[in-house]
Amino acid sequence: MMDVPKKMRAMLLSAQRQPLKLAELSVPQPGAGQVQLKVHTCGVCRTDLHVLDGDLSEPKLPLILGHQIVGTVVALGAGVERFKLGQRIGVPWLGYTDGTCPYCQRGLENLCDHPEFTGYTLDGGYAEYAVADQRYCFPLPDSYSDLAAAPLLCAGLIGYRTYRLAGEHVERLGIYGFGAAGHIIAQVAAYQGKKVYAFTRPGDTVTQAFARRLGAYWAGGSDELPPDELDAALVLAPVGALMVTALKAVAKGGVVVSGGIHMTDIPAFPYHLLWEERVIRSVANLTRQDGEEFLALAPKVPVKTEVTPYRLEDANLALDDLRSGKLDGAAVLTI
Ligand SMILES: [Zn+2]
Ligand SMILES: [Zn+2]
Repeated sequence: MMDVPKKMRAMLLSAQRQPLKLAELSVPQPGAGQVQLKVHTCGVCRTDLHVLDGDLSEPKLPLILGHQIVGTVVALGAGVERFKLGQRIGVPWLGYTDGTCPYCQRGLENLCDHPEFTGYTLDGGYAEYAVADQRYCFPLPDSYSDLAAAPLLCAGLIGYRTYRLAGEHVERLGIYGFGAAGHIIAQVAAYQGKKVYAFTRPGDTVTQAFARRLGAYWAGGSDELPPDELDAALVLAPVGALMVTALKAVAKGGVVVSGGIHMTDIPAFPYHLLWEERVIRSVANLTRQDGEEFLALAPKVPVKTEVTPYRLEDANLALDDLRSGKLDGAAVLTI
């Protein structure tokens, strides 16, 4: 046991569509199979905005948001053997699966019938301490600072799953929405020899230049067609119309993958855009295998995360900046 206080500060969501409030809460205690963490940093994800804004309608309340937690293990619940005291680990969105439903049995635990999610149905990391089921935590590569590691845990992991579901034989990859996930996956794709075409809000030349610095072959506005037909496109902004825009940019057999948990309605479109075996699909959550693969790959690239730090008590400001699209890269709370 390390020295852990009884009380902690947390940014608490009491009701949706209201700002988070700084609160003093009891430090959560680890149950069987859980680790207790002193939180160092926690990434701010667009999903947090969807929970706050009510687009995702079934959070636990009151709730501590945050599912990209970097922390040090300060206590072990009964039976924990994967991690030791003092070890730095990461906690992602997937917080629990039943292991027995038909999806879990098929290796699709991301689609589990009885899942729990960190910072949605379980308390997350906008707080000084957190607990997590050891089975869903990841050791983190040493080469990343606490700040730089946080965005790997959702933007990186779910971005990676989105990228992987675009298929193996992709040479020309479009990325619509160049935020936290986009800037990470662009680096992975460039490292793997793909040509990356980055699409930003029209006129956002700053983010387009950022994309080129990270290895994008071409960057432009989402109102533009790329100079070449794409083999696949990832849609990483919560804008349904971009699914149709991306369909227009992909070649025969091309795949358009949505990486987000929520999106505005996809407008009707003529069948010929889908014809010739084009595919649109979504990605839900992550599997632990996605996490292990991505966290092994990231330091080899090496993926560099662009991070804007905020203090815990400024979580509302971080969420507002994310909503307004002011950020290049990822917002991270330092705790
Ligand atoms: Zn997320
Ligand atoms: Zn299951």
